[in-house]
Amino acid sequence: MATLIDGKAISKLVREEVAREVEAFKAENGRAPGLHVVLVGEDPASTVYVRNKEKAALEVGIAGRVHRLPESTTEETLLGLVRELNQSGEVDGILVQFPVPKGIRQQKVIEATAASKDVDGLHPESIGALWAGIPGLVPCTPKGCMRLLAENGTQLDGARAVVVGRSNLVGKPIAGLLLAASATVTLAHSKTRDLAAICREADVLVAAVGRAKMIPGSWIKPGAVVIDVGMNRDEAGKLCGDVDFASASAVASAITPVPGGVGPMTIAMLLENTLNAARSRIKRAARTMVS
Ligand code: NAP
Repeated sequence: MATLIDGKAISKLVREEVAREVEAFKAENGRAPGLHVVLVGEDPASTVYVRNKEKAALEVGIAGRVHRLPESTTEETLLGLVRELNQSGEVDGILVQFPVPKGIRQQKVIEATAASKDVDGLHPESIGALWAGIPGLVPCTPKGCMRLLAENGTQLDGARAVVVGRSNLVGKPIAGLLLAASATVTLAHSKTRDLAAICREADVLVAAVGRAKMIPGSWIKPGAVVIDVGMNRDEAGKLCGDVDFASASAVASAITPVPGGVGPMTIAMLLENTLNAARSRIKRAARTMVS
């Protein structure tokens, strides 16, 4: 039976770490790191996500606010707010909650956000930094997956890693991070042939598809470590991952549950990214003063 990789417990650890470091940041700089979240419209899931982010930020001592804009907001107005936040001295991190309403181009919003404040790590500059191995802001969910693997003590150097799903938000950055950790990475997607055989080669299998229980235990190499990013509802309406937990946990050496695996790590990593963005801004300001 596989060991459970407990994202709830590990995310608590991360939040405690961040809280201590935020205290130190405040003592040194006389202010808290600032996170500003922008929510356009009233999508129920997004409203809950934003409320959770706001609560988690306050709990670790991060300052900031949520900008709630009506569904009718134009792209121009949203981009105007983003530019204002880019310029604001009290803002270290900016997060526009996606999806944005129809009529607003998500990519325009991503590109308008200052890369140095892009705590979602979606800016082209952040993506380039990740693949070039340059320090930068890394997307929260992929970063959370890497922390789970590290806490599990998973050996990545030379390991065969398979990532199923190639979105910009999850699959691609996870593949980049695994490659940076010297795993040999296969990035699979909906056009991949014989996905089962490819998954069976994986020492580390990451599922980021969005299809309930599509990966059965028979696709998993005995002893593999399985990270399940998927968040789906099964036939009974119960939250479940992309991996069939019951059969997979009988074969894998370690596995994340859904819920309670990757999910809680995403917000914890947002807090860590905000703190890192604040620290980098202070360093840049100090360098500018010296030069
Ligand atoms: P997405 O943008 O819809 O991407 C899904 C990916 O899966 C695509 O690359 C797609 O391939 C691939 N795919 C679809 N059907 C497939 C199949 N039958 N076989 C192999 N690959 C297939 O989704 P996402 O944003 O990456 O999210 C993936 C899952 O993670 C969702 O369940 C989402 O809810 C969850 N998620 C969880 C968190 C968290 O905090 N826990 C955060 C973000 C996302 P193509 O590119 O070829 O279409």
